Amino acid sequence: MDPQLMIYYSIIYVFVFLFGVCIGSFLNVCIYRLPLGESLIKQNSHCMTCNEPIKRRDLIPIISWCFLRGKCRSCGAKISPRYTVVEFLNGLIYLLVFLHYDVAISPLYASLVSLLFSALIVVFFMDWDTQLINTYVVIFIALLAIPEYLFCRPETELTLRSHIIGAFAISVPLLIIVLISHEKAMGMGDVYLMAAGGLFLGVKGILVAMLIALIVGSVCGLILKRINGDSVFAFGPYLSVGIAVAVIWGNQISDWYMDFTGLNETLGDTVTETAMLITAVLR
Ligand SMILES: [Zn+2]
Repeated sequence: MDPQLMIYYSIIYVFVFLFGVCIGSFLNVCIYRLPLGESLIKQNSHCMTCNEPIKRRDLIPIISWCFLRGKCRSCGAKISPRYTVVEFLNGLIYLLVFLHYDVAISPLYASLVSLLFSALIVVFFMDWDTQLINTYVVIFIALLAIPEYLFCRPETELTLRSHIIGAFAISVPLLIIVLISHEKAMGMGDVYLMAAGGLFLGVKGILVAMLIALIVGSVCGLILKRINGDSVFAFGPYLSVGIAVAVIWGNQISDWYMDFTGLNETLGDTVTETAMLITAVLR
C-alpha cells in the first residue's frame, strides 16, 4: 500500500477508536440512568458514593479513571472499572468492525453494525444488572434495519422477506414460551429483542444468534450456578452475544452447520424425492 494512503487510513482508524470510546462513555450513562428513568443529557455525572458532581477534567474516558487510579477525587471511594471497560470495549469494537468491513468499501454498513454493537452492550450490562431490557434500546435496534435494508443490500444480501420473517422466526416461539411459563423462563424484553434482532439479521442470522445464545447461556448458566448457587439469571446478555456473533459470522456458521450435520444434502434429497413423488402422482 502507498505509504501516504497508509497514514491516511491510520488516522481514520485512530479517530474511529476514539469516537467509539466517547460513545462508550455515553453508553455508561444509558446503562445506569435508563433503568432509573433519569434524563440522559440534562444531569451532570456525580459520584455514586458522595454525590459530588464529577469535574469536567475528570470526565475524559479511560484516561481520567487511570489518572485517578479508579478512585473518586473528593471522597476516595472506589469507582468501578466497568465504566472504563465499557468505554474501551466500545472503542475496540468500532475499530474491529471498521477494519472488518473496510472503511473505504462499506462505511455505512460498518457504522450501522457499530451502532448495533453499542445497543447490544447496553442490553448486555443493563439486563445483567436489572434483568430488564429497555424498550427504547430495542426500538433503536429495529430502526437500524431500515437504512440497512435500503442502502446496504450488497453487503447483507438480504431480501425484505428475510428481514420480515427474521423478525418473527425466533420471537414468536419465545413469546409462546413466555406465555406458557408466565415470564419465569424468559421475559417480554427477550421477545422484543429477538424481534428487533431478527429484523436486522434476517432469518438465517437470527437462527444462528439463538443457537449461539443457547450454547453460551447454558455454559455460563452452569458456571454461574456453581459460583453463586443461583439458577435465576437474565437471558438478555446471552441473546446480545448471539446477535453480535451472528452479525459478523452468521453466514459462515449456518453454512458450516448445514454441511456438518448433513442438512444440506438431506434437504436437497428431500426436495428431489418430493418433486419425484409429485410428478409420479400427477402422471
Ligand atoms: Zn465520591
